[in-house]
Amino acid sequence: MKLLSTRNGARRVEASAATLEGISPEGGLYVPERFADLGPLRDYAVMDYPALCAKVLGFYYDDIKDLKAITKAAYAGFDDAKVAPVKKTAQNEYVLELWHGPTLAFKDMALSVLPRLMTAAMGGGPDVLILVATSGDTGKAALEGFCDVPHTKIVVFYPDEGVSDMQRLQMVTQEGANTHVVAVRGNFDDAQNAVKAMFTDPQFAAAVREKGYSLSSANSINFGRLAPQIAYYVGAYAQLLADGEIEDGEPINFAVPTGNFGNILAAYYAKRMGLPIKRLICASNKNNVLTDFFRRGAYTLDRPFYKTMSPSMDILISSNLERLLFELTGRDESAVKEMMGGLKTHGRYSIAGAAKEKLEADFYADWCDEDETMACIKRTYDDKEYLLDTHTAVAMGVYEKYKALGDGTKTVVVSTASPYKFPADVLSSLGESTRGMNSFDMARRLSSLTGTALPRQISALETKTVRHTTVSDKDALPSRVMEVL
Ligand SMILES: *Cc1c(COP(=O)(O)O)cnc(C)c1O
Repeated sequence: MKLLSTRNGARRVEASAATLEGISPEGGLYVPERFADLGPLRDYAVMDYPALCAKVLGFYYDDIKDLKAITKAAYAGFDDAKVAPVKKTAQNEYVLELWHGPTLAFKDMALSVLPRLMTAAMGGGPDVLILVATSGDTGKAALEGFCDVPHTKIVVFYPDEGVSDMQRLQMVTQEGANTHVVAVRGNFDDAQNAVKAMFTDPQFAAAVREKGYSLSSANSINFGRLAPQIAYYVGAYAQLLADGEIEDGEPINFAVPTGNFGNILAAYYAKRMGLPIKRLICASNKNNVLTDFFRRGAYTLDRPFYKTMSPSMDILISSNLERLLFELTGRDESAVKEMMGGLKTHGRYSIAGAAKEKLEADFYADWCDEDETMACIKRTYDDKEYLLDTHTAVAMGVYEKYKALGDGTKTVVVSTASPYKFPADVLSSLGESTRGMNSFDMARRLSSLTGTALPRQISALETKTVRHTTVSDKDALPSRVMEVL
């Protein structure tokens, strides 16, 4: 299917080409020219996850042939046979676990598929060079996704003073002949700005092309990350149907811990494709710019930035919201351009009238502070014997607030990370001391305390050898990339 840009409807490219390109040249995001129809939902209830995902991808990537082989390979290493299992936690309440991949977080669901979509899209063209600036989680998930994928190379840049010990270890021990990791002296903004500069430098692009590569990006505005995320919403519905928890066609809610708005946007796309969703519950932490937007219709950047215990949701600009604005305005590219311009020059934009009404019909938004998040982890463990990570706890806490308003509809809380990824905050929430422990001690303590298994992804890390030791000044990143090529 053709995709078009949110800022230029005349620009229409095949989904596969858009995936290689990442972002449209004038800065817009690629969206499908129309939403495909999922068809009978019962059909999905008898498929295994790779087959289900291939079917969903096939609506958009109709020019890629072996989608089934792609999704089978992508999810082969996941540690749960269902890939994204749904667990019942209480009456009318379920958790969708999206963290059974190599990095124990939901980014794996899409980043294990994206590299394979890219190589399928390449045809006979040049090899792909992926550059990623990371504040921690995306870098590792991208390294795992691209590891030893033919005709690709990936270089990940992380700030040497900006990632946790566990995140750094995960990256510097990365295996694969085509993976490269560089520590950048400075903070995340330094790393990100230096990478952005490479993407917009025509001389650098020419030098890369001379080596037989074309530049591409793996960040969450790539349609190739969005499309695989639609599949697990369909998969969750299909599992509930197969388990006899819901009737065919019964509307359900999803509660999603939100940062860049990619995950919840995929749920909205699933709804537009015919999945019976009543409400999408958009959950934020103390960085609650989205709650304000959904309630007042005004998006404002003039606010403090907080570091929280759910770092992957610490964000002020939710890039994927642009795709929702495109739909809310009836696909009005000039309205989108005006809003995005307003954000850039005045740090704000607003919506009103019909667009705001549409927003309220589909979404509910709220947030949890740090104390509420910790209390939710404790309460959920004590009352339901289910261990939440800090991000999922935000979603569970917001869902509880929403339910108290009177909607008893069956709800799936989307779980984006394993509690073992954030052992310090999870242990503290449970009232345990972590004094004198390193991250591995804490993970082991969490396991003995709760009787849940220590994931092998963590235990293996402790004894892995460090393979990547390059440290670079931010001005020297282009030379580092040329060395790699
Ligand atoms: C990335 C991430 C999120 C936020 O997802 P978005 O698609 O950016 O909204 C939430 N939780 C975890 C653990 C993440 O890694």
